[in-house]
Amino acid sequence: MPSQASSYAAQSADTPLAPFSFERRDPGPADVAIDILFCGVCHSDLHTARSEWGGTLYPCVPGHEIVGRVTAVGDQVTKFKAGDMAGVGCMVGSCGHCPSCAEGEEQYCETTGMVGTYNGADAVLGGHTFGGYSDHIVVDEKFVLRISHGEADLAAAAPLLCAGITTYSPLRHWKVGPGQKVGIVGLGGLGHMGVKIAAAMGAHVVVFTTSPGKREDAQRLGAHDVVVSKDVEEMGAHRGSFDFILNTVAAPHDLDAFLTLLKRDGTMVLVGVPASPHPSPSVGNLIMRRRALAGSLIGGIAETQEMLDFCAEHGLTSDIEMIPIQEIDTAYDRMVRSDVKYRFVIDMQSLKNG
Ligand code: NAP
Ligand code: ZN
Repeated sequence: MPSQASSYAAQSADTPLAPFSFERRDPGPADVAIDILFCGVCHSDLHTARSEWGGTLYPCVPGHEIVGRVTAVGDQVTKFKAGDMAGVGCMVGSCGHCPSCAEGEEQYCETTGMVGTYNGADAVLGGHTFGGYSDHIVVDEKFVLRISHGEADLAAAAPLLCAGITTYSPLRHWKVGPGQKVGIVGLGGLGHMGVKIAAAMGAHVVVFTTSPGKREDAQRLGAHDVVVSKDVEEMGAHRGSFDFILNTVAAPHDLDAFLTLLKRDGTMVLVGVPASPHPSPSVGNLIMRRRALAGSLIGGIAETQEMLDFCAEHGLTSDIEMIPIQEIDTAYDRMVRSDVKYRFVIDMQSLKNG
């Protein structure tokens, strides 16, 4: 007998999120059932709820930065028991046997594609998956993460499940570390985690922001230097000096302004996914110093666990503003205005208030 879940859902691209009830499956032999305590608010939730990328299936229950308490497990589950803290990130399934899945890069699954925590295909109940803006979730053990942060840090750990891994994965893949100059473009949810993680990895970190008011925060978060990216002179001072730049910006902008800051063989990785394309970067800026422009999608499950453990060890969490679910649309509007310090997290107890 499936259970009823309460949630907030968007019914169309231009209606505000509102209470919505739907069915979750009963935990199968390999499943973990989780009562959701906290869910972070990612810009991808907003892109999807408002169908800015197209392809949103309604009703849409966003949310892929989930932390909660395990309430039940299937009889084949070995990693979790009732009462444990658990996390769920951006994916809840993949084929499990293609080369990418075999190498622990399930986010790049080559056959079915990864199954998104929301807006993915629900292989058990049919229809599409519903995310973390809800009171509980049932997920295959393979896609459930252990949370070792203390009780007091659980809400601030939730954003690690997307913002944390999406920044950690490229920083690790491109081997960022001591002696390197690393740029983080955009000080939002992803960006502020990028700053903390890159600094913890020992890099010299420079933040690029369009918001002069975030200068002091950037330094407090661990940046060694801050550049207001609209200031041509400030930008020019860093020409040809970066080993690596992580670009988290959620809007189309001039990529050349950042590519010219890379050294020979430097790489800029795009993780932001704007609703409309960036203007094409110039080939000249790429070939002159053999610079690379790349992209990266979240991170695999094993790497997400590694990131959570790394953050717990280094005492890293997200800077959060806790909101009740009833304020989600105001939070989205503030996110569009780059007015987030630095991640909204929904206290899921607020669902009980209707
Ligand atoms: P966010 O909290 O809204 O942060 C984005 C930041 O970008 C803003 O705070 C702002 O920082 C900067 N920005 C916004 N508009 C800008 C503009 N017009 N020009 C220049 N900078 C601008 O968003 P987020 O949750 O970090 O997500 C960022 C993007 O990553 C979204 O597109 C999201 O969908 C995507 N994402 C991708 C993955 C992946 O796997 N690749 C995973 C999660 C999210 P400043 O005020 O400092 O300029
Ligand atoms: Zn996300």
